[in-house]
Amino acid sequence: MEYYDEPAKKLPVSEYDVVVAGGGTAGVMAATAAARRGAHTALIEIKGYVGGLVVEGGTALHSYYNLWKAFPGVEKRQVVKGIPLEIIDRLSAVGGTTGHSEMTAGFDYDSVCTAIDTELYKVAAFEMLTEAGVDVKVNTLLAGAVVDGSRVEGVITESRSGREMFRAHSFIDCTGYADLCGFAGAKYSEPNDYPVANSIGVGGVSLEEYHRFMESHGALKESARGPRSGERDKIVRVGGNTDKLPVDFVKEANAIGMMTVTSSVHDDYFMFIKLNYKMSVSPTNRDAAAKAEIELRHRQQKAVELLRKHIPGCGKAFITRTSPSLCIRRGRLVSCDYDISLDDVLEGRHFDDDVMAYGFHDFAPRLQIKGGRTYGIPYRALLITGFDNLFAAGMMITSDHDAHMSTRNTVCCMGQGQAAGTAAALCSAQRCGSRELSYTSLRAALEEDGVYFE
Ligand SMILES: Cc1cc2nc3c(=O)[nH]c(=O)nc-3n(C[C@H](O)[C@H](O)[C@H](O)COP(=O)(O)OP(=O)(O)OC[C@H]3O[C@@H](n4cnc5c(N)ncnc54)[C@H](O)[C@@H]3O)c2cc1C
Repeated sequence: MEYYDEPAKKLPVSEYDVVVAGGGTAGVMAATAAARRGAHTALIEIKGYVGGLVVEGGTALHSYYNLWKAFPGVEKRQVVKGIPLEIIDRLSAVGGTTGHSEMTAGFDYDSVCTAIDTELYKVAAFEMLTEAGVDVKVNTLLAGAVVDGSRVEGVITESRSGREMFRAHSFIDCTGYADLCGFAGAKYSEPNDYPVANSIGVGGVSLEEYHRFMESHGALKESARGPRSGERDKIVRVGGNTDKLPVDFVKEANAIGMMTVTSSVHDDYFMFIKLNYKMSVSPTNRDAAAKAEIELRHRQQKAVELLRKHIPGCGKAFITRTSPSLCIRRGRLVSCDYDISLDDVLEGRHFDDDVMAYGFHDFAPRLQIKGGRTYGIPYRALLITGFDNLFAAGMMITSDHDAHMSTRNTVCCMGQGQAAGTAAALCSAQRCGSRELSYTSLRAALEEDGVYFE
């Protein structure tokens, strides 16, 4: 391999209290929380919009509630509130969500279906950020970090305005891929333990017919009714049991990693049919990821052909949206002061430094949090080992795959984001390191900002 010595450059420097890298699921919450707490905050996002995987990957936001429906006699509790809930309330006001529609089948998996209009979510997220006073730098790539001992001094970015440095007191990595932690020299690994996916939105389809198709084969596994296209009590979620569906459909669906679950806020629309593809190497490998992108585009076309061929009412199915690039369930895994274990999750453990409660597991009913309870995310789980002013939030924490199947879900990442943003702002105001921050003051601030605690 030949190498080239890149000449040094003088970069313009901007000063902030808090810099959030990645304006996705966790990042939007982190930046909003930090700015609302008075921190001069910049959000750096490579795409032209914010929202990340909430608007690219999933069929519903899991979950604002405990799994009360699976445990008779257990009280229904909304266990994630604060800023993550505020965005759903904003969407409700403009018909952009199913709200928290109760599941009528499959409630041993989740008790509610909270689906969103992904385009309205992007707008609501932009509004929340700008109202809070966040300096939103979209179309900007985080490309490096400047480190002095155990402190990140600044981050380097690239955009059409050139290469720049953003200096701040505290930094939060919400890039999913842990790009900031990686550039800073934090300890990380790349487990590559999930398939990647590029989920599609499909128009020209009927959720009623899809529901009937599942029912007619005794295969209806998940179902929910709620508001859709301005009407109440419509079907908003359908998921099927592939063991019971016609073999020719299942064979072709399996070959393209197609999942049968979908939800919708609108008539004639399936939100996010997931096409999974397991890469043999980590998705951080550019050339392997390029091949996966091409394969996923082929799978998307085949998925629509399959819907047209097999599902009544879907003869005119067409793709209405795709994600700009493949979506990952885990990019890099970073080393934090505390690593949440599967026991912590399933036993419903809470900690002296809880920053939120959470009650959903993506492997339910096989793995459920005992008794419809919740567990806590401890503050320590958001602190990057070896750094005094670097936080993480989102899918990059939690090493155990089965525990990660809980902590990586959207609503949990959002809650972590609010906690990290609040802590970063307090650290900046008090000019202290992340481990010097008094938990009492963090807890008081989170409670004041609507976070639910058990
Ligand atoms: C296919 C798929 C389906 C899923 N389905 C569901 C579901 O149904 N329900 C559910 O609750 N969860 C689901 N999940 C899980 C959940 O969506 C994610 O784990 C969660 O949203 C991750 O949030 P995050 O903030 O860590 O990352 P993201 O939301 O991905 O945010 C990361 C952001 O950082 C930006 N970024 C990355 N690198 C850089 C850089 N160098 N510079 C600038 N910006 C950068 C990205 O563009 C992105 O906006 C699914 C995940 C996938 C992949």
